[in-house]
Amino acid sequence: MSNKIWLSSPHIGNNELQYVNEAFATNWIAPLGPHVNAFEHGLQEQTKSSHAAALSSGTSAIHLALILLGVKAGDAVFCQSITFSASANPIAYQGAIPVFIDSESDTWNMDPVLLKAALEEAKQNGKLPKAIIPVHLYGMPAKMEDITSIANEYNVPVIEDAAEALGSNIENKPCGSFGEFGVLSFNGNKIITTSGGGALLSENAKMIEKARFLATQARDSAPHYQHSHIGYNYRMSNVLAGIGRGQLEVLSDRVAARRNNFERYKNYFAKHNNAGFNIQFQEEPQGYYSNRWLTCIVVDPTKNKGLTREVIRLAMDEENIETRPLWKPMHQQPIFASSKSYLNGVSDKLFENGLCLPSGSNLTGEEFDRIFNCLDIIFSKHS
Ligand SMILES: *Cc1c(COP(=O)(O)O)cnc(C)c1O
Repeated sequence: MSNKIWLSSPHIGNNELQYVNEAFATNWIAPLGPHVNAFEHGLQEQTKSSHAAALSSGTSAIHLALILLGVKAGDAVFCQSITFSASANPIAYQGAIPVFIDSESDTWNMDPVLLKAALEEAKQNGKLPKAIIPVHLYGMPAKMEDITSIANEYNVPVIEDAAEALGSNIENKPCGSFGEFGVLSFNGNKIITTSGGGALLSENAKMIEKARFLATQARDSAPHYQHSHIGYNYRMSNVLAGIGRGQLEVLSDRVAARRNNFERYKNYFAKHNNAGFNIQFQEEPQGYYSNRWLTCIVVDPTKNKGLTREVIRLAMDEENIETRPLWKPMHQQPIFASSKSYLNGVSDKLFENGLCLPSGSNLTGEEFDRIFNCLDIIFSKHS
C-alpha cells in the first residue's frame, strides 16, 4: 500500500528547532518567556491587531472571549452552524445557550440576512444575545462588513473565529481583526502549527491583559496565592511559542502553497466540468482573499450524472488518500439537537455534497498524480 496522503499535515520550516533549542538552552520551559512575547508580537503584526495573547488552544481563546464579554448561564450566544464543534462548545462551558445561524452560499459562512432576522426576533423578545460567533470556514472570510454592521446596529459584540483563516483578508484587512475579539488556532492540522495552541486578538488592551490574568489561574497581586476570580490554565508554553515563531516566518509560503493547491485542483476539475460535470468550489467574492487552508468541492449528484461525494470519498480511501465531508452543521449534531436555529438549507446541502480534499502545503507532485489518477478512474466510470 502506498503512503497515506493526509488532508492537512504539519509542515515545519527551517528555524523552529533552533527556537526550541534556545528555549532549552536558556531554561525557559514555562508558560511565559521570550518566545511567547515575540510570538505574540508577530501575531499582532500579521493580523494588524493591537494586542494578542498566546494561549493553549483556539478553544480556550473562544472560552476566554465569552468570559470577558460577561457571558453567563442562561445567556444566548449566536454561532455559525456549519463549523467545527470547538466554535460552539465554549458557549456550553459557560452554561449559556447557543443559537445556530445558517450560511449564505457565496462564502459558506454566517448569512447576514438570517443574522439580522434572528437579532430582530431576539430584540422583540427582549433577549438579545451576548455575543455573535461567525467563522471563516476553510480560510474563506465571512461577510464581515455586513455582519459587524448588523451586530453594531443591535450593539452585540462579535467574536471572530479565525481559527482556519490566518493569512486571509478582505481588502487587505486581516481575518481576526474585524470583531471585538479574534481567535486563532495553531492545532496540528491548521495552516501553521505549534503542535497545539491558539491566540486571542483584540484592540482592547485591558481585555487582553485580563485574558492573560484569567489564563494563568487568576492570581491576584500578593506574596501568597490569592484569588478573587475563577482562573484557568490556558497559557501557551514558551517551548511551543518557539515553534510558532518559526512557523510564522514561513506563513506566506504556506498560504502561497495552499492557494496553489486550490488552482491545481480547479484546473484539474475544469477538464471534467468541460465534459458535462459540474463540480463546484468555494469562490472568493471580489476583494476577498482566502488562505485556502483546505480545498473543498461540492458534488451535487443531480448535476454530475449521479456521481456523489461518497463515491469519491470511498474510492480515495481505498487508495489511502484522506478526504473528509465538510463540517457537519451544529444544528444537526445530537448534542445540540434541542438548540434553536435559523436555517435556510445552505449548510445542510454543503454537508450532504461537500468534500475536503488533501490540501497540505507539503503535498508533492507525485502525491497530486496519485490523487488525480484516482479521480480520473472515478470520473471515467461515470462518463
Ligand atoms: C480548529 C478550530 C477551532 C479550535 O481550535 P483548537 O486550537 O483545536 O482548540 C475552533 N474553531 C474552528 C473553526 C476550528 O477549525
